Amino acid sequence: MTKQISRTNDSRERPIDRSLIELREISKRFLNRDVVKGLSFNIKRGELFVILGPSGSGKTTTLRLLAGLERPDAGEIFINDQMIAGRNFFIQPEARNVGMVFQEYALFPNLTVKDNIAFGLHKLEKIERQRIIERMLELVGLQDHINRYPHELSGGEQQRVAFARALAPSPVVILLDEPFSNVDADMRLRIRRDMQRILRKSNITAILVTHNQEDAFAIADRIAVMNKGQIEQIATPSEMYHSPATRFVADFVGEADFINGAVENNLIRTAVGDFPTAGFDSGTSVQVMIRPSDISFKADKEGDGVVTDLEFKGSETLYFLRLSSGEFVHSIQNSESLIEIGTKVKIEVRPAQVLAFPIEVPDPHSQQSRPRVIE
Ligand code: ADP
Ligand code: MG
Repeated sequence: MTKQISRTNDSRERPIDRSLIELREISKRFLNRDVVKGLSFNIKRGELFVILGPSGSGKTTTLRLLAGLERPDAGEIFINDQMIAGRNFFIQPEARNVGMVFQEYALFPNLTVKDNIAFGLHKLEKIERQRIIERMLELVGLQDHINRYPHELSGGEQQRVAFARALAPSPVVILLDEPFSNVDADMRLRIRRDMQRILRKSNITAILVTHNQEDAFAIADRIAVMNKGQIEQIATPSEMYHSPATRFVADFVGEADFINGAVENNLIRTAVGDFPTAGFDSGTSVQVMIRPSDISFKADKEGDGVVTDLEFKGSETLYFLRLSSGEFVHSIQNSESLIEIGTKVKIEVRPAQVLAFPIEVPDPHSQQSRPRVIE
């Protein structure tokens, strides 16, 4: 009989930021293909950790490994310094005390809201069970829907039931798989804020998986960007946006253009001007990342850029600019004054925000492929 892993296990002696969950070099193969490859990360108690990556990058598999629904082929997983999976060692899902909210919610259609929430509480005394159900209903704001069945609820409400059901047994950590994918676009912002509020209020550690960068930025304390079964970077949303560690991250988080540059005598020469290099050898071909907010321009008959298109967005306008090289960049500007399509412009890039990536990237994890920051 395995001991249940307790959420409050010696928490008083533990510094608050000590890691609660640790993955060490976790790998998982399906059909001879690495779906998760040497994954390592730590999650702190109370943290809201987001795994962000494209479809098929291994996000769901990572959650299933944590929940105990998959066994790793290599590596170890720890919760509260206790191993839950490792070489010839495996703690069953029901003994891990991990809550999971699946992408499709997986509510029991024949059970009411109340009975769905009560599902994991069968071992408790009736009074205690009642108390927890009431607390959960209050937490997710479904007191008025207690006797409804899942098909009588909106997508957002179903999600809250799934959430309450996962939280009810006081798990050590709650795992949320694409929790916003089944809610309408116009409800998304509200539901995202609600979920964040509920998570904070219940003080729980959470790992949320999404392919949506905006959701990740809005909700995360830290984000791990995953690509092809590996983590490319772990950082706060702001660090991730301003200092992406790899070309993939730069591309995936936020809008970015990449323009070609050639390194020559400690300068990167590009169609928007020269930038000092930070360690690239002469002759190296690089791509310089430019965010639409990093680039400004003004009408200038002598300029070698042209406005080829624009998109009015309300308070801002997004411009499409063609450079002398034939490359295109985007620029986001205050919409108060409009520069028309066809106008010749002089373009200026604020160098503090520019990152350069070597063009040939044999291994995204080698030091060589790290970008150089140009100050
Ligand atoms: P994500 O959640 O990031 O979209 P998944 O973890 O679901 O990615 O899947 C990663 C890859 O592993 C996909 O190519 C998927 O088809 C494959 N995969 C996942 N589960 C299995 C399985 N049980 N058997 C075979 N292949 C699987
Ligand atoms: Mg998935």
